[in-house]
Amino acid sequence: MRAAGVRAVALTWVDTAGITRVKTVPVARLAHAARRGVGMSPVFDVYLVDDSMTTSPHIGGPDGDLRLKPDLARLTALAGQPGWAWAPVDRYEQDGRPYAACQRLFARRQAERARREFGMSPRMGFETEWIVVRAGDEATAPRYPTLGPAYGMVRVVELSHYLASLTEALAAQRVEVLQLHPEYSPGQFEVSTAPADPVAAADGAVLVRETIRAVSGRHGLAAWFGPVADPAGVGSGRHLHLSLWRGEKNLCRGGNGPQGMTGECEAFLAGVLRELPALLAIGAPSPASYLRLKPSHWAGVFQCWGVENREAALRFVPGEPDEPGAANAEVKCFDGAANPYVVVGAVIAAGLAGMEEGLRLPAAVAGDPAEAEGAGGRPRLPTSLGEALGHFRESSVLRRALGEPMFGAIEAVRRAEIELFEGATPEEIAAATRGRF
Ligand code: GLU
Ligand code: MG
Repeated sequence: MRAAGVRAVALTWVDTAGITRVKTVPVARLAHAARRGVGMSPVFDVYLVDDSMTTSPHIGGPDGDLRLKPDLARLTALAGQPGWAWAPVDRYEQDGRPYAACQRLFARRQAERARREFGMSPRMGFETEWIVVRAGDEATAPRYPTLGPAYGMVRVVELSHYLASLTEALAAQRVEVLQLHPEYSPGQFEVSTAPADPVAAADGAVLVRETIRAVSGRHGLAAWFGPVADPAGVGSGRHLHLSLWRGEKNLCRGGNGPQGMTGECEAFLAGVLRELPALLAIGAPSPASYLRLKPSHWAGVFQCWGVENREAALRFVPGEPDEPGAANAEVKCFDGAANPYVVVGAVIAAGLAGMEEGLRLPAAVAGDPAEAEGAGGRPRLPTSLGEALGHFRESSVLRRALGEPMFGAIEAVRRAEIELFEGATPEEIAAATRGRF
C-alpha cells in the first residue's frame, strides 16, 4: 500500500439506516488495526438517516465499545481518492467475540448456512443507480450536468470524461463492470458488476458507491444514491441479482421446475417471494423508499414473479441456452438506502426457509401487474414503511436469522424514521434523504 502511495486507510461498515460509517487509520497503523481492531461505539446501530439517535432493547446509550477489524483480503487502493485505501470491517466485542449485531458477519453466517445445510453457494450482484448533479446543489433545486434523454447517447457524450474516469477507477480497483448506462430520470445512471459471493457482493456495493462519489467530486459533481431525487419522477433502485450454485452447476438452470429451474431454485425463490413484504423493511428501509415504490415505474411493487418482467418484484432471467451460468433472478423492489450486508443475508435466510419447506412458485405473471391488480394472486407490496414494518415484526424467518439485537435495532430505527418524517411532504422527504446515502 505504501508503494502505491497510500497514506491512510478508510475502514467502513454500513449502519442500520443504510449510511456507510467510517474510521480511518494512517497506513502505519493498519497492521495494528487488523490485529486488535479500532474502537467504535455500538450506538451507531441505532443512528437515523439525519444522525439523530434512537434506542432499542439491546443497543443504545453511551456505554460500551466495539472493535472494528478490517478484512485485509478486501484492502483496495482507491483510484478516485489518491493517497487512500479502503477495507470493510467486521465488528467484534472487546473480548474478541463476534458482535451479535454485526451486519457483515450476519451476511457471512447466512452464506455459510447455505453451504453447510444445502451444499450450495449463492452468487449475487447489485446494480447501482444514482443521480448526478452539480456539486453544491444538495440543499437546493438540483442542476443536472446533462439534460440528455433517458438512455440517451447525449448523456454519454456530454459526460464523457466523467464516465471514462469512473470506468478507469473501477477497473484500477479490479471491480468487474458488466455495464454502465444512462437511466430514465434526469442525471440518472446505472452500473452493474459481476456476480460474487454474497459478502463480496455487499462489499462491492460499498466500494462502487464510494468510487462513484469520489470520481463525481473530482469532476465538480455530486452523486445521489437515495431512493428518490424528485418524488414526481422515477426513483433509483439497487436491485439484487442472485443465482445458486453447486460446484460448477447453476441451479437456476437444467431442472424440471418453471422456466427450467431446479426444484431447489424454485423453492429458494418461492421463499424469497413469500417473505418480500417483510424483506421490504430491510431492502426498502426509508420512508423515502415508498415514494419510489410506485406501480409502472419499473420498481417491482407487486409480490409476483415473471420472466424478464420489469414490473414483477422478482424477475427471472433465463439467460441464453449456450450460457447456463447467466440464468439468475433479480429482486427489483430494493433500493440504495438498504444495508447491502443485511440485504444479502436476509434474502438467503428467506430463500433457505423456502427450501426447508419445499415451497413452490405460483404461476409467473406476464405484462404489467398493475393492470390486473388484485387478480390472480399478485398482491401489492407494502405502500408505506409502517406497513412493511408490520410484516417484518411478524416474520419469524427474519427474526430467527437476524437474532434479537439486530432485529430490535432494525425495528427501532424504522419506527424512529417513520416518526422523524411524520407530516413531512414527499418533497421534504426526498430533499432530506437523496444525498445522505
Ligand atoms: N430506476 C428503476 C428503479 O427504481 C429501475 C429501472 C431499471 O429497471 O433498471 O428501480
Ligand atoms: Mg436500472
